[in-house]
Amino acid sequence: MTAPSRPPSVDKLARSLTSSGLPHPICVDIARAAIDAGDPDSASRRADDFRRTLLTPVINATGVLLHTNLGRAPLAHHQDAAAQTVEFDLSTGRRGSRQAAVGQLFARLCGAEAAMVVNNNAAAVLLVVAALAEGRDVPVSRGESVEIGGSFRVPEVMEQSGARLVDVGTTNRTRLRDYESAIARPNVDAAMVLKVHPSNYRVEGFVEETSIAELATLDVPVVADIGSGLIDATVPWMKGAPPAWLAGEPAAVQAIADGADLITFSGDKLFGGPQAGIIAGRTDLVERCLQHPLARALRPGGLVLASLQHTALIYLDRQAGTEIPFWKMVGVPLASLEERAAAVVAAVVAVHPSARVERMEALPGAGSAPGVTMPSAGVMIDGDLLDELRRHDTPVIARSRDDRTSLDLRSVDPADDAVVIAALQDAT
Ligand SMILES: *Cc1c(COP(=O)(O)O)cnc(C)c1O
Repeated sequence: MTAPSRPPSVDKLARSLTSSGLPHPICVDIARAAIDAGDPDSASRRADDFRRTLLTPVINATGVLLHTNLGRAPLAHHQDAAAQTVEFDLSTGRRGSRQAAVGQLFARLCGAEAAMVVNNNAAAVLLVVAALAEGRDVPVSRGESVEIGGSFRVPEVMEQSGARLVDVGTTNRTRLRDYESAIARPNVDAAMVLKVHPSNYRVEGFVEETSIAELATLDVPVVADIGSGLIDATVPWMKGAPPAWLAGEPAAVQAIADGADLITFSGDKLFGGPQAGIIAGRTDLVERCLQHPLARALRPGGLVLASLQHTALIYLDRQAGTEIPFWKMVGVPLASLEERAAAVVAAVVAVHPSARVERMEALPGAGSAPGVTMPSAGVMIDGDLLDELRRHDTPVIARSRDDRTSLDLRSVDPADDAVVIAALQDAT
């Protein structure tokens, strides 16, 4: 009879996990859990599982360019350890405004008098409504009382901001006179009207909405949540005509020119920058937002401000088409995607005989431009390889349908094609 082997000590097992790269206290937790489960051998798998819960760079081969689960706009922003003039005025040597630098750049970009930045667009809408309409009424079209991205729901934002939502018009048609009569009602104390771009769905058929230009004829400020942060509908940073899939997407420059008193938009959708919310428009209204107590709670940190400033300067330099990763992906010609796909196929066909080049339809993503796609190309392989591709050192996120795996190369940086190839060669 052999005595049951004694479990290894927690400390010894934890030290055996050093090669996982995880900090010692985490290795101790994992070792203890493995021993408690009566399965010390599972420790290294558990360490691997834990590592996979951490934020990890991945290759996005889904063809969804702004993938919300993958951080929306891809971004490389490196910052050296150095003090920064986040709230310091170099000319006076005194305390400055955190909003001054990026504010002036966004104002210039949007053709607005002033601008400021908060943590995301949901925060921007919350702050604007709180600052302009707390305790008062805000008419919103029934067709624009929307939910975006899971938990941004216009009626709830309104409630949180302390304003009262006044439903205007119908789900499919809202006209200027609907707003006029809502504002004229004796029991309504309208502080502003809010126009919300229904970013993530589209109503077709017998529909009518009231334009910003029409709303600008009302006696109250017009606030437009344009959502995706397309800066200029003429897309001057891309060669040729604006891409067809952008038709119908509201843009900052045009919204301000049409008479919006304030606009709000996200920093990490079509703008292509870090997560942020931008508020741009009339100086007096931006000032009211800056003075509201919520502004302090919603302010971004120096890292986001620096990254936004960098992105805004690229736009002002007219280099967005070649220097902002999102617009670079948009601008890749179909022929070059097909060439890259052919090279990937050639490199993996010995392992995956079914690998072939296919035309695909890429999506802008992040709820921008619903229902529209842009022509794309990539690699199609029979069988579902998603799990194996995700398990690669640098995980590759693909899509599968009908037991076929598709890797759309429009959302893949050409420099990463080699990783896609290696992952496919490992996936069997
Ligand atoms: C995406 C979006 C939001 C939410 O923006 P976040 O930056 O994700 O907070 C709000 N309104 C509209 C119209 C949107 O498209």
